[in-house]
Amino acid sequence: MTNFELGPIRPPDEADSLLIRTTRGCPWNRCAFCTLYKGQKFSIRSVEDIKKDILAAQKYYGGRPVEKCFLQDGDSFSMKTADLVEVLHALKEAFPSLKQISSYGRGQTMNKKSAAEIQEIADAGLNMLYCGMESGSDEVLKKMRKGTTAESILNSTRNAQDAGMKTLLFTILGLGGKELTAEHAKGTVDLINGINPGGVRVLTLAVKPGTHLDSMEQAGEFTLLSEAEMIEEQQRILERINGIQSRYGNYHAVNLMPELQGELPRDKGKMLSVINRFLALNKEDQLNFIFGRRQRYYGCLDDLDNADRYRTVQKAMNDFDHGQLEKMFHDQRRNWI
Ligand code: SF4
Repeated sequence: MTNFELGPIRPPDEADSLLIRTTRGCPWNRCAFCTLYKGQKFSIRSVEDIKKDILAAQKYYGGRPVEKCFLQDGDSFSMKTADLVEVLHALKEAFPSLKQISSYGRGQTMNKKSAAEIQEIADAGLNMLYCGMESGSDEVLKKMRKGTTAESILNSTRNAQDAGMKTLLFTILGLGGKELTAEHAKGTVDLINGINPGGVRVLTLAVKPGTHLDSMEQAGEFTLLSEAEMIEEQQRILERINGIQSRYGNYHAVNLMPELQGELPRDKGKMLSVINRFLALNKEDQLNFIFGRRQRYYGCLDDLDNADRYRTVQKAMNDFDHGQLEKMFHDQRRNWI
């Protein structure tokens, strides 16, 4: 049992990390698709309380070496620089074996700090920035009420990199809908190429009930891409990624093709060949694969070669109205995020 405060989420890459909560919720909390902190007021925890948690965590770990720590929740950069630095020093003192301290950072918040402040934070130990950019298209960012622009994201991540922080970007497939899929892919790849982040993590959109995006969809202002269209979108992004060295990954369970992961540029061709293989399938086989993945008969595209499994999936799929399958896939994605 832990006796220190924990927030609700952490990035998938931080599954084994020490979690220390510096802020509660998200200072923006208005994105059209997001329900993470709905109804929760943003607050910054006091340095005193955070330090108490650090000491409690130190006791809990009992001298076991800890190499990674993630600062929860949505934006540690909302703290006064001196306070964040004090917390980072306390962390390093309690856990001298720490090699990585990471946090989400909102571009709008980070851009209010001077380069010298960002440097001070990096020097105190925060050496990894998670950036939920979601899209690099200003049109998509505006429609999704992200409250930021591609330029702002570029500035904040570059300042972090200049201070020596590693950066990892999250992007959401399908966020432009059918209306803005081309803009979403182009803006996103331009921003990824411009930042050259250490990592790119892909998520797949699901529209949560009660969100502004849900209202837009019902009003006909936003049209969901099909599963296959989202893979086409990912193809457009991956094809145009150039000149960067990043770990690219579809790690989240919501993604259709988890095998799309690797080092860029080395594995770009391999990942594109998996996408191209899927897109070259006839519609029935594409549907069989998507159904099989969403129902967990398949782990990856190669499983489609197993004739027994293919028949089992086909039989299971025949119990459903094919016109309703995309809706069912979406419902399943919604359960994952
Ligand atoms: S997506 Fe991120 S920035 Fe937007 S409301 Fe959710 S937590 Fe806040």
